[in-house]
Amino acid sequence: MENVIIIGSGPAGLSAGIYTGRAGLNPLIVEGPCPSGQLILASNVENYPGFPSGIPGYELMELMTKQAKGFGARFISGSVSRVDFNVVPFKIWISEKCHKTNAVIIATGARARRLGIPAEKKLLGFGVSFCATCDGRFFRDKGVVVVGGGDTAISEAIFLAALCKNVTVIHRRDKLRASMALQKVALKNPKISFIFSTILTDIFDVEMKKVVAVRLRNVKTNEEYDLPCDGVFVAIGYIPDVDIFKGQIQITGDGYISCHNGQETSTKGVFACGDCVDARYRQAITAAASGSMAGLDCIRYLEERK
Ligand SMILES: Cc1cc2nc3c(=O)[nH]c(=O)nc-3n(C[C@H](O)[C@H](O)[C@H](O)COP(=O)(O)OP(=O)(O)OC[C@H]3O[C@@H](n4cnc5c(N)ncnc54)[C@H](O)[C@@H]3O)c2cc1C
Repeated sequence: MENVIIIGSGPAGLSAGIYTGRAGLNPLIVEGPCPSGQLILASNVENYPGFPSGIPGYELMELMTKQAKGFGARFISGSVSRVDFNVVPFKIWISEKCHKTNAVIIATGARARRLGIPAEKKLLGFGVSFCATCDGRFFRDKGVVVVGGGDTAISEAIFLAALCKNVTVIHRRDKLRASMALQKVALKNPKISFIFSTILTDIFDVEMKKVVAVRLRNVKTNEEYDLPCDGVFVAIGYIPDVDIFKGQIQITGDGYISCHNGQETSTKGVFACGDCVDARYRQAITAAASGSMAGLDCIRYLEERK
């Protein structure tokens, strides 16, 4: 029987591990399909406090893992395939083996929705990005495209316009989906232009390992043409990794785990943190912060049950 099982080993899960570890709870952290979380994909993290020259994502995550282990957190490889939160002890199946626990902290993150073209994957970190806040600075005075038409895409375009020479928003529909307030700000920004009814079909140049242009296709006329640019920001939404929890805890209309009173989910004793609860910020620092909150909420819950 475990005190607490933490599902996910990114910044949120590891922070929860540090807090519950320091409280003597000996947490078990399930690493999942992406041990140490998605920050390992970041070549240099410049906005995590404490590292004035930045730090490679994998190094930051190595430090967090070491810190959690130092306080007694244990790690198990494999993924959670099924959960049963109906009664305490909760049941969690890790690689088909059932584990029992008095509390659970969910920190499974959210994946950026991808265009699904091969060049997108090959040029990730080489001019293709899913996060303007994280990578915008690398495109100062350059020309970039943003793919998408919702709130995220338009917010990213506005953010990038403050840094870049120009920003072209590529949207597959003939009008934006973003809120009117955001649209107003973007439409009157002279650095932002829009190409509607158009999809991005390829990104060049994989051989050169940098972005030099994108291929676009007008979905109404089928006309195809290349647009030179230095960077591509894909902002077509996120998919929180919460499928295995459906029917067990409340999920919002957007697909994120619903929390109240700090990091409590709709089931007492089950807490959630990080990008899987956060439709808004999705940063390492915010994930780590909510991981600490989930850890503290969990410690209090287990104390009260004694
Ligand atoms: C390329 C890139 C660059 C980035 N750069 C920055 C940056 O510079 N600064 C910044 O602040 N943010 C950056 N981010 C965003 C940052 O990585 C995320 O906000 C942060 O990692 C979220 O932390 P998390 O712990 O909530 O989730 P994640 O880091 O996504 O971790 C989720 C964890 O859950 C596990 N998991 C998922 N499903 C299961 C399952 N079924 N069973 C068990 N475990 C499971 C995964 O294996 C993983 O360990 C970047 C993201 C990317 C992709």
